[in-house]
Amino acid sequence: MENVRIVDILEWTRGKLYSGNAMDKVAGICIDSRVAKPSQTYVAIKGERFDGHSFIEDVFEKGARSFIKEARVEVNRRIRDLSSIVEVEDTTAALADIARGYKSLFDVKCVGITGSCGKTSTKTMVYNVLSKKYKTHRNKGNFNNHIGLPLTMFELDKSHEAAIFEMGMSNLGEIDLLASIARPQIAIITNIGYSHIENLGSRENILKAKMEVTNFLDDDSILIVNGDDELLKGIDPNGGYRIVKFGFEGHNDIICTGYDQDEYGIRFKVLIHGSETEFYVPSRGRHNIYNALAAICTGIEADIDIKDIVSGVALFENEKMRLDIIEKSFIIINDAYNANPDSMKSALDFMTSYEGRRKICVFGDMLEMGSYAREGHEMVGKHASDKVDIMITVGKDSKYILDEALKNGLNCGRHFESRDDASKYIKAIVKPKDVVLVKGSRGMKMEEIVISLEERS
Ligand code: ATP
Ligand code: MG
Repeated sequence: MENVRIVDILEWTRGKLYSGNAMDKVAGICIDSRVAKPSQTYVAIKGERFDGHSFIEDVFEKGARSFIKEARVEVNRRIRDLSSIVEVEDTTAALADIARGYKSLFDVKCVGITGSCGKTSTKTMVYNVLSKKYKTHRNKGNFNNHIGLPLTMFELDKSHEAAIFEMGMSNLGEIDLLASIARPQIAIITNIGYSHIENLGSRENILKAKMEVTNFLDDDSILIVNGDDELLKGIDPNGGYRIVKFGFEGHNDIICTGYDQDEYGIRFKVLIHGSETEFYVPSRGRHNIYNALAAICTGIEADIDIKDIVSGVALFENEKMRLDIIEKSFIIINDAYNANPDSMKSALDFMTSYEGRRKICVFGDMLEMGSYAREGHEMVGKHASDKVDIMITVGKDSKYILDEALKNGLNCGRHFESRDDASKYIKAIVKPKDVVLVKGSRGMKMEEIVISLEERS
């Protein structure tokens, strides 16, 4: 962390100096007592299960002498006398305030990525492209919320020329907060799906929530969106920033004109300002073309040479449990990281690229769908009905997928309440050369089925 003192934190958080010296240096911010270092400032956050305030003493014993706490909690005299402590009303809000203040010290090209699916994959592709020209910072893994984004911000340093922030949300107002911290000049919306519809009530509201990423764009800024997306294609062109649309449809600004998929990746052609360029992404799934198109648009916007954009896109590696291909006598497609109707459909479309093989899909429930649960699961069932030979569903609502698929022409399927029973069944029926797709929401832990299948030779 660069050049921050307690006095800056007092200003950014409008907090009170509870004890110590306002000129003390802040060498880093930590919220996890288990990994806190003596040089860092420990912010005591109240989480769902634990209140970080209960660990202030532990962190003090590890040598830390700088704390941010809420006024409701007292600390003992020894800690108070030997530490610099900032007192605020709400430490979670303070974490965001400090991140916002810290960001204002930098002049970096900043990219904010939101959307229903593909954020992390797009982030990686954008990173690979921007890194060709700029020293680029990005969030680790899925650090995309009101805690993860500030923690990512604190790792920004003077050497960085660009920064990428994935922005996730489950309700209105959340992306606004993240955008107010990161202030992206390049905003990307990957698509508008059904995730978190339980909280938001409609896809229009999901669009509204994602569009909050534009709340701090100015007329030099740019919004990059998937123009094939039913809702994104109709966004207001007069938002006060430029809009670039990408996709397969002819009305977009950057258009994929064709592609060819083999077992290692996808080769695809893109029409950019009247001339066609060929790209290769070493990963499967047509959805990864969309993610690559977002990265291509970002590269063009950031003045990166087209040759470097091509080589940046070619660096992509799928993250774990996202269309991971495991080759045994049969093939397992492990897409168990998470699921919503859109990514379920993408995974099914991908499975169809395995022509001439028997296709088995193993689907767990899609969670957090609220009153759309039935409709969302049925939508997947309908989409799957002509793409798979055997469907196995696990859990509760996934039965709607199976029922709808059977209604629409699927011949063979079975529902299980437990993963173990489903695993036993799949192990018994799987044959050499089969392709088995495994997918479900994070909470369904469908990877355990993958692990159990891996034991089968
Ligand atoms: P999360 O909300 O969990 O952070 P995410 O938006 O970061 O998810 P990824 O981790 O990139 O998304 O991908 C998650 C799943 O979505 C994967 O299973 C992948 O196969 C699928 N996916 C990735 N990109 C797209 C896309 N552009 N459209 C539809 N599905 C996609
Ligand atoms: Mg993600």
